[in-house]
Amino acid sequence: MIGEKISCQVIFTMDCERAHANKQFYPPGPHTWEESEENIEAFSRVLAEEGFHATFFAVPEAAEAHSELFNQLAKSGHEIGLHLHPRSFGFGVNEFLGNLPVEIQNHLLASAKQRFENSLGFSPVSFRGGYFSASQNTFSILSQLGFSFTSTTVPRRNNSSSGANWPDWRCLPYKNSGLWEIPVSSHPWKNLPDPAFELRELFRKTFSRRNYTRNQFGKSAISHAISLAAMGLNRNSSKINGERESVSPQYLQIEHRDLFILKNITSEHIKHWRRLKLTHSILVCTTHNDVPFSDSRGRHIKILKKYCQYLHSLSDLIINSATIKSLPLELFGSKAVSTL
Ligand SMILES: [Zn+2]
Repeated sequence: MIGEKISCQVIFTMDCERAHANKQFYPPGPHTWEESEENIEAFSRVLAEEGFHATFFAVPEAAEAHSELFNQLAKSGHEIGLHLHPRSFGFGVNEFLGNLPVEIQNHLLASAKQRFENSLGFSPVSFRGGYFSASQNTFSILSQLGFSFTSTTVPRRNNSSSGANWPDWRCLPYKNSGLWEIPVSSHPWKNLPDPAFELRELFRKTFSRRNYTRNQFGKSAISHAISLAAMGLNRNSSKINGERESVSPQYLQIEHRDLFILKNITSEHIKHWRRLKLTHSILVCTTHNDVPFSDSRGRHIKILKKYCQYLHSLSDLIINSATIKSLPLELFGSKAVSTL
């Protein structure tokens, strides 16, 4: 029925990477474990203030460094899942997870799960591959290792060199090899071409380096103009299909998107759910443990808070907080795959 509210499960996720001093190292991470801990705590505190929980995807090294913190968070309703970047975990494995042969994936995933369990004293049931990289083998292996959930796809991210090929757009959870995959929410129709993304990031870096803040520019007409320009370029390239290498869609990532983009992705989802006449749906956001959420007056904490408040203000939605493992999948059923 038109106008009926849609029950929306909102899942905030944070990928917790290894701390290291070298920012050029792949994958990037916080400089120190102290910085990581501060950011994780601040992120969970703000979410709690706004009525949300999170799923933290921790690489084995982060599980070891933050065993006490992660146990506390798990007790207060957050979830700790496993995250894996073969390049930083398995020395000598210089490849993305989805591009590795089944035997090596099996060995790495089993070892990573074991180290996670040794550190935290419980087993992870959810998994995310670094760079959203996975192959069909990954899902089978994870299923055999006792996992129940993955959130390892960004729909329309299509990049063979990193083994992250998800050319179909999906807005709902779906079953794969006995696991439920909970896709990160990406834009229903926009593929962001690399030049537009780079242009926007260039502007952003230039302004932040010169200390031009949003406040100095008023409500930052410039930032909006850049966003609009990037999205305009984006719209023009929306015919790009899955054959192109290295297509990266816009998705709900707190650190690289301003509030305008987060709201835009969300409102496009709602329009799409309305078209499909859905009564239940999900939004899955991501961020990282090197994002300075502990800077209480900083940009990221403000965007996070404002985005939470924006979600609560939407009259179309009944907002529910969920984690990956607590998602009430019975609401979605076996057909929960909805593609365009
Ligand atoms: Zn990662």
